[in-house]
Amino acid sequence: MKWTPELRGEAPPLMLVELDPQAVIDGERFDDTYLAQDVVPAGAMREFCPACRKGQLQLVLRQDNVRVAHLFCFHCTRCFGALLEDGTPALCE
Ligand SMILES: [Zn+2]
Repeated sequence: MKWTPELRGEAPPLMLVELDPQAVIDGERFDDTYLAQDVVPAGAMREFCPACRKGQLQLVLRQDNVRVAHLFCFHCTRCFGALLEDGTPALCE
């Protein structure tokens, strides 16, 4: 069965792994935060941030200063990669 957005409620849960922001975004470090200019999220995911559990994760696709598609939490500014249950990456490049 092909996964479509209409079936989001029944999609298998994603495994989230925290990524080093410096590995996925070209940005600059200011004290304890890492900022990048002009990173535009493609949309909100149904998953919430597993670290702070307050921010809804945003899908960020590859763009000028984004090297790897990832999920981003605006609340705690952490970056996550998503894997399917069998360990294959859930985000396409
Ligand atoms: Zn968070």
